[in-house]
Amino acid sequence: MTTAPVDVDTARRDYAALVERGLSLDITRGKPSPRQLDLSADLLTLPNGQYKAEDGTDTRNYGGLKGLPELRRIFAGALQVPVEQLFAAGNSSLELMHDTIAQAMLSTLPGAARRWADEPRIAMLCPVPGYDRHFALAERFGIELIPVPMTETGPDMDVVERLVAEDAAVKGIWCVPKYSNPTGVTFGAEVAGRLAAMPAAAPDFRIIWDNAYAVHHLTEDEPELADILALCAEAGNPDRAFVFGSTSKITFAGAGVGFFGASEANLAWWQSVLSKRTIGPDKVNQLRHALFLKDADGVRALMRQHAELIAPKFAAVERILAEELSDLATWTKPTGGYFVSLTVPEGTANEVVRLAKEAGVALTPAGATHPHGDDPADAVIRIAPTFPELAEVEEAVRALAVCVRLAVAQRA
Ligand code: PMP
Repeated sequence: MTTAPVDVDTARRDYAALVERGLSLDITRGKPSPRQLDLSADLLTLPNGQYKAEDGTDTRNYGGLKGLPELRRIFAGALQVPVEQLFAAGNSSLELMHDTIAQAMLSTLPGAARRWADEPRIAMLCPVPGYDRHFALAERFGIELIPVPMTETGPDMDVVERLVAEDAAVKGIWCVPKYSNPTGVTFGAEVAGRLAAMPAAAPDFRIIWDNAYAVHHLTEDEPELADILALCAEAGNPDRAFVFGSTSKITFAGAGVGFFGASEANLAWWQSVLSKRTIGPDKVNQLRHALFLKDADGVRALMRQHAELIAPKFAAVERILAEELSDLATWTKPTGGYFVSLTVPEGTANEVVRLAKEAGVALTPAGATHPHGDDPADAVIRIAPTFPELAEVEEAVRALAVCVRLAVAQRA
């Protein structure tokens, strides 16, 4: 990126004026706003005395490890998992991903020669910029994190194919295939096809297909995502993909439902290890979700209401960045999901975040989008505009621009 010179005195003056204002703003985490949560207010009164599932199951009691069929049916299409292969579980998909890795450590996966805990070395590919919690989760298990560059259509598959073919320690790849966190990228059909079909040195290689933003469109232009389970099966690698999703950013974040989908063999493995962990999920929560959402159209209608609330915030981010930083930075223009990824001149992202903090604007730590919090170029900043009110988003992004100009001026 070529960067225009910035006048230091002007940048300092603007920053001093910013600090003077004593702001207190936060655009750190991708959380739904209170107004978004209000869209699902009916959940607070459901299931309204009802406790029987459609097949007569008493949701107040133990059992039903796979989750309620009526809820699994609602999400099977969006998550591209056949109903029979989709589990509805607890309140979090991150928890499911954590458990899956933990269980792969402790119990031999289908296709594996041994438990991951017994391998001398385990690595996972981390498309960057990516989701910090994926990286932290793997790090917690001592898994080596190998960064792979993201392109406009997903991870750089030449790099992925080489690493996966050469190194039997590479056991998986983290993927947010739709409206990726934080780039907004949706994986192209070619990328998905190559992921499904590429030769892997590890027989138990897994694609962690975290479809967290499957229905989170900001526009009418909804990109098609390839069906990874079907592609893996067609390519002769039926057990390669683990699919995750949740209603965290559909209904209530933290009080929604997480989903897990995979091949029959993977599910048999999962069910056998899961049955030691729980007697069954919270079916009352699942029932209230099924009653509230009703069907896939219900989910679509709700997501349109979310988009009406948050699309103006994304538009504001884009408008202000274009007004203030088009000479200095580049940024993503997502059509869905929860984030904008801002790329500032190399070596300035940490300083921008520090300056913003001192001016009362909290940003996600620079580097959070990379394994171990280390962005070697020190250039990527994740913007999460959904939670604050529109006016606050505007103020925060204008403040961010002042900080970028000062950081660049100081460095020059
Ligand atoms: N995956 C991605 C890509 C996310 O962005 C998030 C939330 N920020 C999660 C998973 C967490 O989802 P859950 O609430 O279902 O644990």
